[in-house]
Amino acid sequence: MKYKGSCHCSAIQFEFEAPAITRGLRCDCSICTRKAATMTAFTLPPERLKITAEKDALATYTFGQDVARHHFCNRCGIYTFHQTLRAPGEYRINTGCIDGLDSINLPFDIFKGSEL
Ligand SMILES: [Zn+2]
Repeated sequence: MKYKGSCHCSAIQFEFEAPAITRGLRCDCSICTRKAATMTAFTLPPERLKITAEKDALATYTFGQDVARHHFCNRCGIYTFHQTLRAPGEYRINTGCIDGLDSINLPFDIFKGSEL
């Protein structure tokens, strides 16, 4: 499947190909609990995620070990994707930002990020 998505103001847009998304992943760590976003259960290597961002729109937040990189739009504030702790450099996408996906009703598993 070809997927497209964006932040709320569309300053950040992205595309990737993946099998049909039928399940997501939520993490119970200190930042993901606050975001309450359902992420893709799979990760994408950087070469499989095409990101188009307007100049200076893409901001990044890191904390703790600085391995996970939480990316967001610095205009509308929406968290679009992050680079994971488990597979450094690889991305999980916020399913709420993917066009045409019913993310609210997507079943999900819990990742115990709080125990890392
Ligand atoms: Zn935006």
